[in-house]
Amino acid sequence: MSSAIVPTYARADLTFERGEGSWLTTVEGERYLDFGAGIAVVSLGHSHPHLVEALTRQGAKLWHTSNLFQMPEGERLAKRLTEASFADLVFFANSGAEANEAAIKMARRRQYIDGHPERFRVLTFEGAFHGRTLATIAAGGQAKYLEGFGPKVEGFDQIPITDLKAVEAALTPETAAILIEPIQGEGGVRAVPPAFLRGLREISDRLGLLLIFDEVQTGVGRTGKLFAYEHVGVAPDILTSAKGLGGGFPVAACLATADAARGLSAGVHGTTFGGNPLAMAIANAVLDVVLAPGFLDNVARLGLLAKQKLAGLADAHPRIIEDVRGEGLMIGLKLRVPPGDFAALARNRRLLTIPAGDNTLRLLPPLTISDSELDDAVARLEGACVDAQKALDAAKAAA
Ligand SMILES: *Cc1c(COP(=O)(O)O)cnc(C)c1O
Repeated sequence: MSSAIVPTYARADLTFERGEGSWLTTVEGERYLDFGAGIAVVSLGHSHPHLVEALTRQGAKLWHTSNLFQMPEGERLAKRLTEASFADLVFFANSGAEANEAAIKMARRRQYIDGHPERFRVLTFEGAFHGRTLATIAAGGQAKYLEGFGPKVEGFDQIPITDLKAVEAALTPETAAILIEPIQGEGGVRAVPPAFLRGLREISDRLGLLLIFDEVQTGVGRTGKLFAYEHVGVAPDILTSAKGLGGGFPVAACLATADAARGLSAGVHGTTFGGNPLAMAIANAVLDVVLAPGFLDNVARLGLLAKQKLAGLADAHPRIIEDVRGEGLMIGLKLRVPPGDFAALARNRRLLTIPAGDNTLRLLPPLTISDSELDDAVARLEGACVDAQKALDAAKAAA
């Protein structure tokens, strides 16, 4: 059957019809345990009753009015996000890349209104992923995403995450901001050392740069805190959030201190869809659950439990799993076999996972998984390890 969709995705031959909690059911009625959660998006599992209720209630009332009018649900969401974080203000968008565009524009504009129009460059780091718009592929710096799309958008400099001296050496009088994921997601669940992040804070303060944390993947409880910067002990000036924020509904946010956002006045930046009543009602419903007492503690507990169990699996299968890493329920299995092949073996055992860079497989389950679902996933991964080992043995015998 030919498809009329532009073939930008290599889709697995699986069609899901419905989802409930941590489970997806195909059109044939087969059940899959979902440890990908739509790439860390379905943060509260599929068809969470509280989200379904918010969607249907707001859906029957009002979807969209445009940002020409007052937005009470958005005001409420912004207040809750700022009260629970370092930020004073929030700009709403629809996707992670757009939230990052807002962050980059905010930083450049702040430098501009402070009399530094020459400061527009943004320092980023190897292995980063910030989205697929023209500016965010330049920020991410990955050749495979830049190739064939014309000149790279000007103003992004990239260095490896090594030491702070390299950062200082890479800064120029034109640098406006530093953009970094506290834990690289697509790059392979690679945590940035806390001392490095604290050093970036110090450098930014000293040189008047804006520090931007891309928490599109790490945010909204994924790591066991509302935002991952809370593990580190320093806050950014600007932070972007998207994936888990709407539990599956497209919504994003760019959070900032009042000082960082000073350059964005009426008419300077905007979006048609961003922050509409439907998106805001759903994101508020996500926060109802994530900010409820004990919820984030349970995510942290599940994360530790998962790491323990997976470390046991790595010990039992050293030829397949090299390392277990991550924070909370953002977990990476660094493999000794190709992660795409391993994800296919897990899929044969009806477990969904997500390959990433650095030969890593990501486990990003709904934050609502039960202990027994975690055990179930580990058992399926164990089966996939056995299958992977068999494939290695067979290849060796054939050689
Ligand atoms: C997914 C992701 C993005 C891009 O988000 P989109 O919604 O696909 O635009 C940006 N940054 C990080 C860290 C991400 O994980």
